[in-house]
Amino acid sequence: MNDCIFCRISKGEIPSNKVYEDDKILCFHDLDPQAPVHVLIIPKKHIASLDDVGEEDKELLGHIMTKVKDIAKTLGLENGYRLVNNCGEDGFQTVKHIHFHLLGKRKMTWPPG
Ligand code: 5GP
Ligand code: ZN
Repeated sequence: MNDCIFCRISKGEIPSNKVYEDDKILCFHDLDPQAPVHVLIIPKKHIASLDDVGEEDKELLGHIMTKVKDIAKTLGLENGYRLVNNCGEDGFQTVKHIHFHLLGKRKMTWPPG
């Protein structure tokens, strides 16, 4: 997926401000932060969205979930945080490579509707 911006970031072809990296996943600061702390956690494997996750991706998605608390701790989010996935058109997903937004250092409000 040469045209996928997050694949290019994970390969280092586009620079990013990295927070965490291992062989399977990458976490980097969002270009347009919506909170004092706003990072994105992505698998290095190209999966377009949550709608495209397969049985074979269970371990990879589980790996992301187990790393969230460690990344949050690194970023000083002891007081809590929000983890968000936008999926598809109604979810307002703009980058078609699955990613989880980790937002913190701001009092979150639930969407009013
Ligand atoms: P989505 O709207 O798909 O859930 O979120 C995509 C996110 O990626 C947005 O918050 C946007 O600011 C961020 N983003 C888009 N392009 C880049 C980029 O090239 N670098 C970084 N660091 N973030 C990006
Ligand atoms: Zn991709």
